[in-house]
Amino acid sequence: MARYHIETYGCTSNRGESQEIERALRDGGHHPADGPGEADVAILNTCTVVEKTERNMLRRAEELDEETPGDLVITGCMALAQGEQFREEGVDAEILHWDDVPQHVLNGECPTVTPDTETVLDGVVGILPIARGCMSDCSYCITKKATGQIESPSVEENVEKARALVHAGAKEIRITGQDTGVYGWDRNQGESLLPELLDRICTEIDGEFRVRVGMANPKGVHGVREELARVFAEHDELYNFLHAPVQSGSDDVLADMRRQHAVAEYVEVVETFDDHLDYWTLSTDFIVGFPSETDRDFQQSMALLRETRPEKINVTRFSKRPGTDAADMKGLGGQTKKDRSKAMTDLKMDVTGEAYESMIGRESEVLLVEDGTDESLVGYDEAYRQVVIADAEERGLEVGDVVDCEITSHNTVYAFGEPV
Ligand code: SF4
Repeated sequence: MARYHIETYGCTSNRGESQEIERALRDGGHHPADGPGEADVAILNTCTVVEKTERNMLRRAEELDEETPGDLVITGCMALAQGEQFREEGVDAEILHWDDVPQHVLNGECPTVTPDTETVLDGVVGILPIARGCMSDCSYCITKKATGQIESPSVEENVEKARALVHAGAKEIRITGQDTGVYGWDRNQGESLLPELLDRICTEIDGEFRVRVGMANPKGVHGVREELARVFAEHDELYNFLHAPVQSGSDDVLADMRRQHAVAEYVEVVETFDDHLDYWTLSTDFIVGFPSETDRDFQQSMALLRETRPEKINVTRFSKRPGTDAADMKGLGGQTKKDRSKAMTDLKMDVTGEAYESMIGRESEVLLVEDGTDESLVGYDEAYRQVVIADAEERGLEVGDVVDCEITSHNTVYAFGEPV
């Protein structure tokens, strides 16, 4: 499990965000480090209220970049509004929205969601864990020891839970699990029931709602890719969003990671979704600096990123977790990992920046799901790209509304929209 160091600046709202991050990390079995020098990941939750604060944030980011042997994650208001300043100063960090920090810290492991499969309603967002456990045994993962083999409730049970969430006021259902792609493998002779579940949620439940499908490893999705992509294309309720973490562009490294999929299978999944959907978001994760990753392997990961151009990318620098098989492998030097992480993060910013740039001028239907900073509201468009609408109260908007928006600008992490 990761040791984390978190520093928070600014208002009580920002402190609340840090508490949420810490809660998610502790739920995932991670624990605080004795300072940044001992941390696998250092998190800087920034504020940008005045210029002097900005200078302090930049200075602190540079210090943390030096002090921590692990990853540096910068989040908070300055990261989101002026993230490019950190890059211009040469700080090697992941710039992330608060909500994306826990997932990043998992070192490539699948998220440890709630220990059982109970639903949670948080405002207009309903969390629906559809199964527990996975069908893999990744060599770097310790989550598996806690969650075990997949255990899937029936499709009927999950549809009923989704229905209850919608009746209780959920406008967005987030389907979660260690690996949603293998949902039902234990009930259906090793074939995913995810397409059937999504189809039935969309056809059998009355009401206005959207559904976001959480992390699905490429192996599980590959077997049902045609069927799954067709279900996405048929139902407007589904956000056109797939989070399929590939982790490496090298089959040799994937074998050492015991990931079960080949690079070509991941590419086939992407191509199938491209064939069925005009506007969608591919989200993927890469681990850089895995112990057996050669320079050639790393270049293959870079090439895969350039080829498939995911709109959302999580780059994690490998760090050893005690008790895992990968921890016993002879590791790469810290500088090599840092250099590779920086190179891939730079490429990621180019790729995602291009995706957001192409959204400008686009008209989208945005579902508003939560409060943002300074009177704004935060929502998601049809492809689950985050859109912020300023002065929402003045415009008579509230959480739960669906708003027709024109995308006017972006900051590489999310877009800004104007109601039309
Ligand atoms: S799929 Fe791999 S990383 Fe995810 S929980 Fe299972 S063993 Fe861990």
